[in-house]
Order: sequence, then structure tokens, then C-alpha cells
Amino acid sequence: MGLPDDIELAASGSGRVPIEVDCGRLDPSAAARVRDWATQMWAATSGPLLEETGHEVPSIRVLVAEDVWAAARREAAALGLGPDRREGPERVGGVVAGKCLRSDDDRHATVVVPETIMAGNDGIAQCHAAAILAHELCHAVYAVRRRHAMGATEDVWLPWDVAGMISVVAAEEYRVDRLALILTQALLNPTDVNGTSIPLASVFGSLYFEGLSNALHEVSPGLDESVWSYRTRAMDLDALRQRLTRVTEGIANYIAHVEAYFEDKDPAMTLIEGRAVDLLEPFWAPWIDHLRSAPLLPGPNEWAADRAALWGIGSTGIQEAWRRLGITTRPEGGGFYMAVDDPARAHPGERRRRS
Ligand SMILES: [Zn+2]
Repeated sequence: MGLPDDIELAASGSGRVPIEVDCGRLDPSAAARVRDWATQMWAATSGPLLEETGHEVPSIRVLVAEDVWAAARREAAALGLGPDRREGPERVGGVVAGKCLRSDDDRHATVVVPETIMAGNDGIAQCHAAAILAHELCHAVYAVRRRHAMGATEDVWLPWDVAGMISVVAAEEYRVDRLALILTQALLNPTDVNGTSIPLASVFGSLYFEGLSNALHEVSPGLDESVWSYRTRAMDLDALRQRLTRVTEGIANYIAHVEAYFEDKDPAMTLIEGRAVDLLEPFWAPWIDHLRSAPLLPGPNEWAADRAALWGIGSTGIQEAWRRLGITTRPEGGGFYMAVDDPARAHPGERRRRS
């Protein structure tokens, strides 16, 4: 998969797009680096991807914080947002990566990034820091464009809607990672001792890939054990539902990060085996197909169809994954009914080889 040629990152808006950078307690050289990256990255994205396409460019503030979550809560209050309904800061493989907050009218955005990562000094640590910063800035760009075309995102609670939304949110993670990768590669252009360019996708891709098996363990045996706990009355139904949602969100986002940095012909998920890969296949196979063929940033008239496709993939594929775990849901009155069956009956055929 090549880089998309529909993304132009020429810094044509340079100098005209103000950005405020608060580096907290970073040492002066790291602070100068982060300030420089943030300014250039914002110019390179907000110019061509927002300003020149008729979107209002939000005022943006970058904050380097020791405690991302505490800082994000304070910044959210400053932007007039209520308590965060989402699950807190972004985590990648258990590590807090950052947070992008936007005011309800999309006119202000604040990006919070962790001090420990921004302080990284050696070559790869600097690339990692720049990629994290780029990722959060690209969330701001992506969100402004999506909301411009689609309006605000609704809250969901019915299981089939939750499943659809997990797919939509993970797709944003994938795309924002791809954009950040393009941006970081172009801006830092890392080279080895011979002056040969180092493709960041291969560096980060292998790191994420190494963590994939552990992440999948949360699904199986993790969720299998939760189902067993419910069936032996060690866990109640609502706790099982919450755990199912949280683990499914987590693995969908992790798959998004792995696949975004994985540029081989076949998706990373086809290279590993196991019950979790098999359980989730009705979701990840069509989801990756869609993301690999759709544009990174849908055009103004493409958002609705793109979202409907992602929503359908998630709602169908994730519910099938849940069914294979033994968990089915159906509408009941104004809510839903959730049944937990023996997973051995729900999905007896354990492994089959993909061709
Ligand atoms: Zn993200």
C-alpha cells in the first residue's frame, strides 16, 4: 500500500495559522523541538486540509503535561466541555499517548501530549514524540472536517449501535495514524548512518506488531474467562457488558494502530493465528478492506457513505464476534435483551486456515 496521493502537505499556510505551544517543564532544547514541530505540522495540515478547502481553522493550543489525564480534564473545563464521556486519554498498548479536545463549536482545540515522550532525545525517541504530536493534531483536522460534513457525533448505548461506533472511532484512529506517519516522515526525514532514509512505518509497525498478541489475549482467553465468570455467577450481566464493550473498543483501536503502520500487501491480522483472530475476523477483514481502499480524508460529499459503510461493518462484524463468544443481543421494549450462551455451542468450529 503506497501513501495516498490525495494528501498534499505543502506548508502553504505557513506563518498564517497561529498556534500556542505550552511546553511545561520540558528542558529548553526539547521544548524548542516540540514548538518547531507543532508549528510546522499545524501549518502543513491546517493550511491545505482546512483553510484552503473552506473549513474554519480552529485556534489551537498544544500542552505538554506530566499527567495527560489531569491536564486534559482542566483543559476540557477551560473549553467549556462537560465531564469527558469517553474513556479518558488515548492509550496505545497501555501507554498514555495524548488527548485532543475540541470546543463544541469547533473553533478551539487543545492537544495534550505526555512530557515523558516529548522529552525523548535519541533519534527514534524523537520520531516517536513527533508522531504522537502529529497524531493528536491530525485528530483536530479530521474532526473539523467530519463535523463540517456530518454535524456532531451522537451518543450511543444500544449494543448494535455501540458496535457500529467502535468501527467508526477505530477508523479515525487508523486514518489519523496514517496522516501522522506521512507528516512525521516528511518533517523529520530520519536517515541511517549512510544517509539512507529510514521508513518510520517499518520502525513503528514492528513495535505495534510485537504487542498485538498480548492485546489479543484480552479478547481470548480474556473475554472467554469473563463469559465463564458470568455463567458461574462470579460476574453480573452489566459488568460483563461493560467489559465486553471496553475490550472490544481497545482491541479495535489497537488493530487500527497496527494496521496503519503495517504497509505489507497482506494485513498484519492475517499473519497471526489464534482464537481471538478468528473470533474477530467478521469485523477486521471487511474493516481493513474498506480502510485500504477508501480515502484517508473523505471528501465533503463522501463522509455520510463512508460512515454508513464503517457503521455497517462494525454493527454486523462485531456483533458476530460477540455471538461467537456466546453473547447475543436483541431489541426489547425501548432497550435490549442480552443472552449469554455456551461459547462452545455458539462457535464450535475452532480454527480454519485462511487462504
Ligand atoms: Zn488517536
